[in-house]
Order: sequence, then structure tokens, then C-alpha cells
Amino acid sequence: MHLPTLVGIILLLNFMLGGLLFVIYQLRSKQRCFLYWAISCWVFVLGGAFAAAREFIELPWLTHWLASILLITSPLLAVRGIQFFRSPNRRHKWLAQLLFLAGATLLIGALYPIYPWISPLTSLVIAGVFAWAVYLLMQIKSPMQLPQRLLCIFFVLHVAIMLLQAISMIFMLVNNAALPLSASSDPGIIAGASVELADSAAITTTLLTATFISHLLLTTTTALMFPLLVFTRSEQTLIELANIDDLTKLFNRRAFFIAANEAFRDTRMQRGNLTVLMLDLDYFKEVNDTWGHSVGDECLQWVARCLKRELRDTDILARVGGEEFAIALPGVNKEKAQALGKRLCFAVAEQPLTVDGNTIPLSISIGGALCSDKHRDFQMLLSDADQALYKAKDNGRNQLVFA
Ligand code: GH3
Ligand code: MG
Ligand code: MG
Repeated sequence: MHLPTLVGIILLLNFMLGGLLFVIYQLRSKQRCFLYWAISCWVFVLGGAFAAAREFIELPWLTHWLASILLITSPLLAVRGIQFFRSPNRRHKWLAQLLFLAGATLLIGALYPIYPWISPLTSLVIAGVFAWAVYLLMQIKSPMQLPQRLLCIFFVLHVAIMLLQAISMIFMLVNNAALPLSASSDPGIIAGASVELADSAAITTTLLTATFISHLLLTTTTALMFPLLVFTRSEQTLIELANIDDLTKLFNRRAFFIAANEAFRDTRMQRGNLTVLMLDLDYFKEVNDTWGHSVGDECLQWVARCLKRELRDTDILARVGGEEFAIALPGVNKEKAQALGKRLCFAVAEQPLTVDGNTIPLSISIGGALCSDKHRDFQMLLSDADQALYKAKDNGRNQLVFA
């Protein structure tokens, strides 16, 4: 394809992508990462257009100096967007980016008298910015989703392409410098050397064109990845809001029923064991009345941690009501469940929680039920465990009763 046309199309695409990111910024309650990514796209278009103009006009301050500054600013803005994506509520200082840009501007300014050397330096600096972006993405603590992984790969590819581009440009510049130098030697050797140099120059030009197009395409695909990155995180947050209890960070009632119903179906198919425990804090109203609601909340968090510590990863633990918890234990028979229940009662009652020097007396009552053929669905099993819980309360609390 005609190279200037291809470059024109890719730049136009990036311009429109910038528009799309800006519209998303307006719609997504002004999430700033989108604003920076939008401006990054537009700055890239401007820098790319100025750089492309060097084929047609002889204005090095525009086509080399300014184009390079813009082409470095664009990934720096993308990095800033990633910082806002990582922690949207923090105020991020400009200092690191400004220092980086100032350093790059000074270096590029120093090379102005030999302006063809500006381009390889720009490629090296851009490679550094993309490496910075990879570092920032790797720092994100949540498990890596597909868009984040893809973005990392794109950035690493970008680093590689920018380095390759810089090396090719340096090679070409050195070659060009070598051509007139050889003119002072023997004419036979000059002819041979010139052909060799011309051949390698042609290869380098092809390589440069390939890296240039790859750079443009990678920039476009990277810009496309940004909204996906944010949307997968938003989806993750929504899933958490729908399934996780805010106070204890355990499953909520909804998530418990989904997971436990699945465990019930699996147990039925494999004819294995499934035990359910219903737990309720004893005299918790008194705890609230005596120590206050916030201490009550701390107690609930503490009990959640106590329970979690005693369970396996495969057990399903949830806060299903105010001071009520439920546990589904796949593959656990009555004897094991009884032993576990006793351990749980002990863990809560015998190692009391201390808040501000005050020891809060806490205990739990537990009702248990083992899945059998009479249970047509999980709800029936849970209701048996609930009945057993009432008996545990009637029997004096701080104990386990099995249905
Ligand atoms: P019992 O031994 O019979 O279960 O007595 P109880 O006092 O625990 O039971 P009751 O149902 O009378 O009271 C439950 C209390 O749990 C009342 C309510 O204020 C408290 N509670 C429910 N949800 C929360 C919560 O999220 N935080 C706090 N701090 N308290 C809560
Ligand atoms: Mg209760
Ligand atoms: Mg209670």
C-alpha cells in the first residue's frame, strides 16, 4: 500500500480513537484516565503528522524537534492515564513526567545542530516510557485480567520495536557518514564498498518502514485496549459489590446461595457428603447495647476472621444475615462437621476479642445438617440446619446441635 496513505489512515484512526476516549471520559463520571488517554492519542496524531511531513518540507524544528517532543509526550500521557487508572482517587503529581519530558527536551535540543540524530534518540526515549508503562501495569495488585495482560504485551512489543528502530536509524546514519569518507581511497575499493553500503542502506530503509508501521499499528491497538482495561475492572467491582459483604468481606447471602446450590448439585451427582452449618452470635444485641454499634461491627469482623482461619479454601463461608453466618462444607461428614463446629465455638468463645482494653465476651451457637436423600433442594437442607440452631439456642447457646 502507498505508505503516505497508510500513515494518513492510521493517524486519522488515532484521531477518532482520541474522540471516542474523550466521549467515554464525559460519560464515565469524568474518570481522568480517559481524558489523558484521549489527549495522548491526539498528541500522537499531531507528532506523527509533523514527523511524516519531513518527506515534503525542510523544517527541522517542526518535523524533527517538535515532532519528537510530541511523540514522547504522547506515551507520557498514556502513563499518566495508567496512574489514574491504578488509583483514581489519588492526586498524582506531574513531577516525574515533567522531569522526564524536560530531560528529553534538553537532549533533543542539544542534538538540534545534527538533527537527523534526533529520531533515534526519540525512539530510545519512547522505549523507556513504554518500559515505565509496563512497570506500572505490573504493580497493579488485583489478578491480571486479559486486557491488562494484552496491554503489557503491546507495551513490551513497543519497547522492542522502538529499540529496533533506534538501532536501524543509527546504523543508517553511520552508513551515510561512511559513504563520503570512502571517497579518498582507491577507486576500485570505493565502488565495491559503495554497492555494499547501498545494499545495507536499502535493507535498513525496509526495516525502518516496517518498524514505523508496526509502531503506528501498535499505538492504535494500545489505544483500543484502554477502555477494555477500565471496563473489566468496573465489572470486577460490580461483581464484588453484588457478592461480597462490605463489613466482613465474606460472601453475602446471594453469593452463598449460588455457590452452595452448585455444591448441592455436585454432591448429588457424585453421591458424596455435604454438611451445612448455620451460626448465630449469642446475645449480640447486648454487645451492641453495652459497647456500641461500632464495637459490634468490629466483633462481626473478628468472628469472620476466626471462622475463616478454621476453614479450607473449598468451604463456602458467608454472612447471611445481621449476626448470622452460614458454612457449606462439601465432602465433610457428620463426625468431621461436629469436630469442626466445636473448634469454631472454642475459637470464638475462648480467645476473646479485646477492644480499647475491654474484653468483649462473645460466643456462637451452631446448627448443623448433613445432606441426605430426603433433601430435595439446598433450601431444605439449610432449613434443617436452622431448626438445629434454634435447639442450640434453647439448650443454652455456645454449642453445636445437629439435626
Ligand atoms: P440470640 O443469642 O438469641 O441470638 O440473641 P441476639 O441478641 O444475638 O439476637 P437478636 O436477634 O435479638 O439481636 C441481633 C442483634 O444483632 C441486633 C442487631 O442490632 C445486631 N446486628 C445485626 N446486624 C448488625 C451489624 O451489622 N452490626 C452490628 N453492630 N450489629 C448488628
Ligand atoms: Mg440472629
Ligand atoms: Mg444472635
